[in-house]
Amino acid sequence: NKQVSILGVPFEDTNQKDFEALLKKRIDAHQNTFVVTANPEIVMYARHNRLYNQLIHKADYIIADGIGIIIGAKLLKQPLAERITGYDLFVSLLHWGSQTHKSAYFVGAKTDVINKLKQVVAKSYPGLTIAGTHNGYFGDDRNIVNDIARTQPDMVFVATGYPKQEEFIERNRKAADGLWMGIGGSFDVLTG
Ligand code: UDP
Repeated sequence: NKQVSILGVPFEDTNQKDFEALLKKRIDAHQNTFVVTANPEIVMYARHNRLYNQLIHKADYIIADGIGIIIGAKLLKQPLAERITGYDLFVSLLHWGSQTHKSAYFVGAKTDVINKLKQVVAKSYPGLTIAGTHNGYFGDDRNIVNDIARTQPDMVFVATGYPKQEEFIERNRKAADGLWMGIGGSFDVLTG
């Protein structure tokens, strides 16, 4: 894939269909994959925070989650194919995971949201195994990471908002060889 650099952030020039196909192939092959779904706020934050900037450069893919990124790319005369939102990817992967009997781990949001998420996933995506869940308000990672290492989910969705979600993923992604993706407020949206 071609990449387009917007204010120092290398975005994947791809569309949702192709990117999903790529992710599914990597998940099936148990390839460790870190995806950043970056909106303009994340790009601006990375400009002013060197550690976060270095951290997102360790991701396998950074995708343009926000029309502002698409507009910026066009103005820079390096257009990106299409906006791909973390939320749309999340829902598509849940659907695919249900059809193909994958497992997923969910970290983030408040306890009542994560409890509702369990019900929604069980009802709407019955073929998907919920490897585990944890709310997004925790002190240290250890219990969660041990649980992820033990259950070896195909996908780990981290919805604690930036920069916390990307920091969590980079620290812990070795625990399971699958997809790790930060998806902001997506649990709230799916259960809302
Ligand atoms: N959140 C969390 N832990 C925190 C702070 C926030 O789990 O320490 C959750 C919060 O409950 C909400 C999401 O992270 O579900 C934040 O969503 P937002 O849309 O603000 O994320 P952003 O798009 O800013 O990354």
